[in-house]
Amino acid sequence: MRTRFPPSPTGFLHVGALRTALYNYLIAKQAQGTFLLRIEDTDQERSVPGAVENILRSLDAAGIPPDEGVVLRDGRVAQEGSKGPYFQSERLPLYRRYADELLEKGHAYRCFCTLDRLGEMRKAQEARKRAPMYDRRCLELLEEEFQSKLTAKTPHVIRMKVPHERIIRFEDDIRGTLTFQAHTVDDQVLLKSDGFPTYHLAHVVDDHLMDIDLVLRGEEWLSSLPKHLLLFEFLEWKPPRYAHVPLLLNKDKTKLSKRQNSVAVEEYLAKGFLPEALLNFLALLGWNPGTTQELFSLQDLIEQFSLERVQKSGAFFDLEKLHWLQGQWMRRIPLLDFAARIRPIVEEKFSKAKDDDRFEEKAELIQERIAFFHEAPAMLSFFYEEPTITIELLVNEKQKVTRELIVPIMKLLMEILSEIPREDWKYQQIRDHLGRYHLQAPMKETAKKLELAFSENTALTVSKLQPCPYSKGQVLWVLRSSLTGLQFSPGAYEVAEVLGKEETLRRLDRSSALASA
Ligand code: GLU
Repeated sequence: MRTRFPPSPTGFLHVGALRTALYNYLIAKQAQGTFLLRIEDTDQERSVPGAVENILRSLDAAGIPPDEGVVLRDGRVAQEGSKGPYFQSERLPLYRRYADELLEKGHAYRCFCTLDRLGEMRKAQEARKRAPMYDRRCLELLEEEFQSKLTAKTPHVIRMKVPHERIIRFEDDIRGTLTFQAHTVDDQVLLKSDGFPTYHLAHVVDDHLMDIDLVLRGEEWLSSLPKHLLLFEFLEWKPPRYAHVPLLLNKDKTKLSKRQNSVAVEEYLAKGFLPEALLNFLALLGWNPGTTQELFSLQDLIEQFSLERVQKSGAFFDLEKLHWLQGQWMRRIPLLDFAARIRPIVEEKFSKAKDDDRFEEKAELIQERIAFFHEAPAMLSFFYEEPTITIELLVNEKQKVTRELIVPIMKLLMEILSEIPREDWKYQQIRDHLGRYHLQAPMKETAKKLELAFSENTALTVSKLQPCPYSKGQVLWVLRSSLTGLQFSPGAYEVAEVLGKEETLRRLDRSSALASA
């Protein structure tokens, strides 16, 4: 199975193009086949310097580099494979040869019409509410007229001659049976006056000569399919299979556009989206697995992707889904990799982190809480610098921590926590010890059995057998915010453990001084 991805080098890699590339990649890989990349640079005016490299880098970063054709080797653009060259601009004699063959067989003709004439023709057609189509004037040129134009080297194009009486039927791998009335098909320009082919001729020639089995491309090409099928027929070649994938849509059902969304793959990667999340997201734009599974690694996709489950209608580009997948994939990175990925950015911000031999422990605390690597320094800040504590932070309406309660809760916390022996200063012990002051429903039974003093709705201090008048939420909020200075942060027990007993009590003391001031 040979599939291809043939971008035009007009700039960055579009997310829609990455999805097309991905589907092609998957189909090749599930058959141990080849995923080929060709550069369609026949529109010289639209070619942008650096675009080829940029596209290849994005594919590499996404994890789906091509096997053949234009590839990146040692960071440079190279061509690999026996069916090259893989830049269309290096294949001009080939297109000329097949255009000549079409002329000879009577399936194409030269057209000398000027742009002005074509413009007027189109205007007249529009005025009559007709679809714009070449009126075949040059097909009716008298022999001498034709010869004199040719000897005078009048600039001209080569057009295909569409047999209007034909009805063209085809099975598309996604859309099923398609029927086209040839009389609605324009006599497409195949070779421009500058000797460059149009997409229509070039891709047919290339897909044939490069032994492509399946052309999977965007739906915008569907209406041109009859032209392509006719060209295969005229050249007496077997056409490949075709599959037209649905458009990506903005929320308002318009075609995905820069105005409403970022569309460049590099932008998503620069923002910190994981390639895994991006590919997972794009795979599901138009394809559904038929199960409730939502997380797909590239390997899962290779195993499960199928064209039968690609939808015909447009697919909504739902950024919320992408963010959700990003969170899921962040959590799946093995801890040591995760720590290694965030370490340089944390060190850049806090040089203290450089000789932190407990970095992994800290990384573990935030892995589930950040969606992007670049959020790590802020999330870990309190480990490397004194947190900024304010009354506004300590007071918490939702947890019912009022200003008056802050100091008494802190005092109690300090009292309780200092009871824990230093060698027991571990998450579990801290939690259990604090927990004893806040009996939860299931524990009430045990407490009763132990005949401990007990009061409904409140907790109690085991050591002194006195009820604790504060809820768990109140106590934990005061502890966590005093230790981290953050609204959102890892949990109180974990942070206390990593900070150590001394530092925990010091921070509580410091906050309490601030609160009583
Ligand atoms: N060069 C075309 C494009 O970038 C390729 C379309 C195709 O896949 O055949 O849209």
